[in-house]
Amino acid sequence: MRLIFLGAPGSGKGTQAVYLAERHGIPQISTGDILRKAVQDGSELGRKAQSIMQSGGLVPDDIIIELVRERLVQPDAGNGFILDGFPRTIAQAESLDAMLGEPKAIEMVLFFDVSEAEIVKRLTSRRTCSQCGKNYNVLSDPPPATGICDQCGGKIIQREDDTEVTVRKRLQVYEEKTAPLKSFYSAQNKLHLLHAEQAVEHVRSALDALVARL
Ligand code: AMP
Repeated sequence: MRLIFLGAPGSGKGTQAVYLAERHGIPQISTGDILRKAVQDGSELGRKAQSIMQSGGLVPDDIIIELVRERLVQPDAGNGFILDGFPRTIAQAESLDAMLGEPKAIEMVLFFDVSEAEIVKRLTSRRTCSQCGKNYNVLSDPPPATGICDQCGGKIIQREDDTEVTVRKRLQVYEEKTAPLKSFYSAQNKLHLLHAEQAVEHVRSALDALVARL
């Protein structure tokens, strides 16, 4: 199963990717998670990416493409994977096609459709564990009052790029660079739309039904 989850930041694709990956025993590959880990570790990649991520911009294509190329040859990706947050530009999508080749091509692209107003609300109320990445939401799924993650004991924070100014910038970048991927994958007959403003369980059922077709 080789899938891409496409959608604006905060569209819920990460939550569903974790669920589906676990269900099917394949890795969820999130370039955002890989970059945040690199920033935390203070690696060269992290140093290059940090200020770009804080400002809500996109890390250059060549860096991201190399990172994904290295990740996809790991043994756990042999039986399939879910790409979450990659590709984000047409250049990344073209490189991915070239990287995979026809027999291993992407089978389905799930587009998580959510309105801009809902995204701003979701992201600015999101809180995240700085250690394991688990997401909470002050409106719909509040974090423990202690500020400590109930999954791993890490500290719960607001991501620097979840503040309103940066969220608006991320949405603008999304519209400009990533939204054109809808037409790109639609032309390949791979695009499937999910009404992602519904409750998490409804999105999950719709996703299961779509993936069952594979
Ligand atoms: P995410 O957690 O997917 O929202 O990603 C957080 C940030 O990491 C983004 O705002 C970008 O700065 C960077 N990033 C993640 N994935 C990519 C990508 N495929 N291309 C460029 N930048 C990325």
